[in-house]
Amino acid sequence: EIYNKMLELKGNIRVFCRCRPLNTEEIAAGAGMAIDFESAKDGELTVRLNGAPRKTFKFDAVFGHQATQADVFQDTAPFVTSVLDGFNVCIFAYGQTGTGKTFTMEGTEEARGVNFRTLKQLFSIIRERQKLYRYDVSVSVLEVYNEQIRDLLVSGAQPGVAAKSYCRLEIRQVGEGIHHVPGLVEAHVNSMTEVWEVLQTGSNARVVGSTNANEHSSRSHCIHCVMVKGENLLNGECTRSKLWLVDLAGSERVTKTEVQGERLKETQNINRSLSALGDVISALATKSAHIPFRNSKLTHLLQDSLGGDSKALMFVQISPNENDLSETLCSLNFASRVR
Ligand code: ADP
Ligand code: MG
Repeated sequence: EIYNKMLELKGNIRVFCRCRPLNTEEIAAGAGMAIDFESAKDGELTVRLNGAPRKTFKFDAVFGHQATQADVFQDTAPFVTSVLDGFNVCIFAYGQTGTGKTFTMEGTEEARGVNFRTLKQLFSIIRERQKLYRYDVSVSVLEVYNEQIRDLLVSGAQPGVAAKSYCRLEIRQVGEGIHHVPGLVEAHVNSMTEVWEVLQTGSNARVVGSTNANEHSSRSHCIHCVMVKGENLLNGECTRSKLWLVDLAGSERVTKTEVQGERLKETQNINRSLSALGDVISALATKSAHIPFRNSKLTHLLQDSLGGDSKALMFVQISPNENDLSETLCSLNFASRVR
């Protein structure tokens, strides 16, 4: 029985690897490829150096440079049904800055990412099920920056000025296994159009007040939380579940000699929260008795939605460029730790 439980737990964590294509500058510069796309099948990915195969990693799925947003979503879609069936789901994008975390999660207007497709699917299943179930959906948009939680749906929540709105938000345990952030805005939404509007508001608030929008985005975790209440109209049974969509801060290592002061603190906080996330997921995967949720704001926030019968999906994003190989290996090693 215990053995079955272990398998189940392990079965609730999926790791997908996605490698972006070389971009035009890299092609112009004649960058070498560190990833062997031809060998990428059945979830295996081989890293090569100077043309020679170096190491092979195994994933639940591998998406190469030719994979479309639709291809990626096809394997992500089952998680949406799980949310409506009452399971908590966490979807993360992990990786070095510039490897496509935001492209995978947010996407672009021409190539919508996981967030858009997931919510669209969510509302489409809700419509299909409307004779049998009634659903109630609300969303929060938040950011964790320097181990502080910022509510992006509070108007005027700007990085420079929002010292108050930063520190006020804390995580409280309000019951057995129930954690809550008092004061966090939960916007009630009835349709894809409504939810997308709210999420755009959140995204816009994110960069307001930061001198370098891209840099700020890569130094903070962007978190969307979709809360779903379901009621079975036949038997009155109710479910409550959460879907977390997380675009993590860049995982690149910065050496202490390169940075000082604020930037060093930032880096330490990012490293701390990413390694805390890795620790939590690997503790869950290896059914460890102690799951160290409290070691970072991110894992503490997600505590109720990681573990138990929750489901997690981690996108490990990598660059194909040989010059990025050491960061790529770090990300792939992180992935093997959580799988
Ligand atoms: P990150 O969020 O990890 O820093 P981005 O998502 O901003 O990275 O991606 C960096 C650049 O690479 C962007 O211009 C993005 O559009 C492009 N890109 C990333 N992944 C892909 C992909 N699979 N196909 C095409 N372009 C991509
Ligand atoms: Mg990004």
